[in-house]
This record gives sequence, structure tokens and C-alpha cells, in this order.
Amino acid sequence: MLIGAHVSQAGGLSKAIERGVERGCRSIQIFNQSPRMWRPTAYDEDDFAAFRAAMEASQIDAVVIHAVYLINCASEDPEIREKSLASLTQSLRVGEGIGASAVVLHPGSALRGHVGEAIARAGEVFREALEATDHCPLHLEDTAGAGGTLGRSFEELSELIDAAGGGKRLGVCLDSCHLLASGYDIRTIEGLGETLDRFDATVGLDRLGSLHLNDSQTPLGSNRDRHANIGEGELGEEGCAAFLSEPRFDDLPVLLETPGPDKRGTSAEEIALANELRERGLKARGGRAKGAGGARRGSAKRAADRPPA
Ligand SMILES: [Zn+2]
Ligand SMILES: [Zn+2]
Repeated sequence: MLIGAHVSQAGGLSKAIERGVERGCRSIQIFNQSPRMWRPTAYDEDDFAAFRAAMEASQIDAVVIHAVYLINCASEDPEIREKSLASLTQSLRVGEGIGASAVVLHPGSALRGHVGEAIARAGEVFREALEATDHCPLHLEDTAGAGGTLGRSFEELSELIDAAGGGKRLGVCLDSCHLLASGYDIRTIEGLGETLDRFDATVGLDRLGSLHLNDSQTPLGSNRDRHANIGEGELGEEGCAAFLSEPRFDDLPVLLETPGPDKRGTSAEEIALANELRERGLKARGGRAKGAGGARRGSAKRAADRPPA
């Protein structure tokens, strides 16, 4: 399990590696540009090469890109659709440049429209973006289920994958906060296990490619997306320990997108806590720790972009 966090890419892509190392991360997630603007950041081959070299020299074994928030691949507005397609395609290209495990994307929103039609529109945009790029996987993230957001259930994620053609590059990122908020009770080892059985039956575990670990400020089924620091929300330490020790997550990047102690994102202390909770979870399961990775403590004072929702 590659425990890590969302970190800022401000100042250049390679800076993200430094921030990950400072926090003791084994994996990182970054935005490929400012997340609240359409305008893409221009990178060249030298930027990509520098990033890959910095990552190679570090303890970080996986990087994931989070696509920007403005994207709504399900939009009926032709202008938003075109901008969404261009932005998603750009994210996948940057992903290919830096050797990312995937681009993680919120699947979109039907707003007040028909959900089935929205899924079909989103699927078509995913398909076009994948056709325009070579190999970077696209992970659709499950959502908390607010408003018309798509991807609130495993059934919807499965429909979205089908609508996009069902190719091998299509995967899923499961977010613990969103799972709980959308009604999946993952607060215990048993509850998480049953939830994953349902995921396997509906989507297939082979599609599961990345994870977000966030505690939730709002309760089970609240459909509200409010991240809490690890152990400080409705999941609590027990729920986080269950998530961190789930054997079916063993080979995946697990990224924290928490507010952090000073609202500047996940801290080194929180990554260390996540590693401790993994050990605790493994003990509770009666297993032995393997590959948990040693958390290195370091300064976490650097400013980060606000972590993603
Ligand atoms: Zn997330
Ligand atoms: Zn969220």
C-alpha cells in the first residue's frame, strides 16, 4: 500500500515531489494546472523529464493527477463540453509525460437533467479523450452524491464505464469520505469488506486503481462532501484503520486529501498517523504488517493548494 497525499504543484511539477518527500509520502496526487481555471499550464519535455528524474530518486512510487473541478463531461452546454474534453485530454497528456498511474476525474453532473442521458454524454467525452491519447488510465472517482453528481453508486460507475466503451484504461478511484456520504457503511472491517464485495460484483475489483482516504465531517448517507482529518470524522480511527489495512487495497496508492492541521493540506504527522493506523488495522485483522513503508517525519510548513474535494 502506497500511502501518500495530494500535494501542491506550485512552483513547478518537480516541487510536488519535494513536498511529498517532506511528508513521508509513498505516493502523491497533483493537479496538472490551477484547479479552478480552464487555462492549461504549458509544460515541455524538460519539465516532464525533471519530474521523472526527481521521482526516480525519491521514495515516491506512484503519482496520480487530479483533473480540474470545472470539468463537467456530462454538460449539455456545447462550450462546457468542448472545454471539458480539452482539459481532460490535456490532463491525460501530462499524465503520460510524467508517467502517472492515472488521471482521477469526478465523472460529472446531470445538474437537473436526466441521469441516463447525462451518463451517455459523459461516456462519449471520456471515450474521445481516451482516443486522443495513448495509454494513461482514467479513474472515475465515486462521489458523495450531492445534487446531480454522477458516480454516487457502484451501479452508476459501472454505467459510466460502459458508456465510455469499457476499455482497459477505464478504472475507478474510491474515496472513503464519498463512500460514507453516499451511503456505504465502511466504518468497520466487516462493513468495508461487504462494500468491496458489492463493488466487485458491480464494477469488478480489477477496475479499482486508486484510493482517496479522507475522514468525513458529515454522517453516513448525508450526500455531503466535507473532508475531515484522519480519525477526526465519522469514520474515526477505527474506520480509517480498516480502510488502511484492507488486503484488496494492498498494491494501490492511497492518497489523503485532508484539510490538515492548518487548512493547508495533509501534514507529515497525518501521514505518520495513517501508517500507524494501518499497523493497528492489520493487528485487528490478525495479520502481520507488510510493505507499510516507513513514514519519514519532516517539515510540513510549506504552503499547499487547498486540497481537493
Ligand atoms: Zn477524493
Ligand atoms: Zn471529496
